[in-house]
Amino acid sequence: MDIKALWEKAVEFHGHTCPGLAMGVVVSKIVLEELGNRAKSRELVAIVENVSCTVDGIQALLGCTFGKKNLIHKDSGKPVFTFYNRQTKRAIRVSRRQDALYRNPEIPKERQDQIDTILKSGRDLFTVQEVTISLPD
Ligand SMILES: [Zn+2]
Repeated sequence: MDIKALWEKAVEFHGHTCPGLAMGVVVSKIVLEELGNRAKSRELVAIVENVSCTVDGIQALLGCTFGKKNLIHKDSGKPVFTFYNRQTKRAIRVSRRQDALYRNPEIPKERQDQIDTILKSGRDLFTVQEVTISLPD
C-alpha cells in the first residue's frame, strides 16, 4: 500500500487529519516494510510510550489494538514505539528524531503543509533500531 492509501485509511479511522496521525502513518509504513503484514490476530505487538494521534495511525494500519491486547501502553511520554513480530521474533524500536520536525525552523507553520512534509519525509524523521525483547505468548 502506498503512503496515500495508508493515509486515507488512517484518517477514516481517526476522524480528522493532523500531523500526529501523519507520524503514525509513517511509523506504520516502516513497520510494514521491516516486520511484515498488519496483524490479523496478535502476531504483531505494539508497545507505545505515549498516547497521541500517532497511536491511532498504528491501530488503524497495523491492527495492534486494545481489543486484541496487542497494543501495550508503557508510558514514558516519549515519541517511541516498539514493535514485535511473534512469528519471526524480530523487534524494532522506532523513535522520532529530536530534530525531526517541531524543533526544525524550516518546518511549515500551516497544518496541512506539516502533514505533507511528514508524509514526504517518511523514514528520515525516525531512528529505527533492531532490538531484542521478550514477551509472553
Ligand atoms: Zn489527531
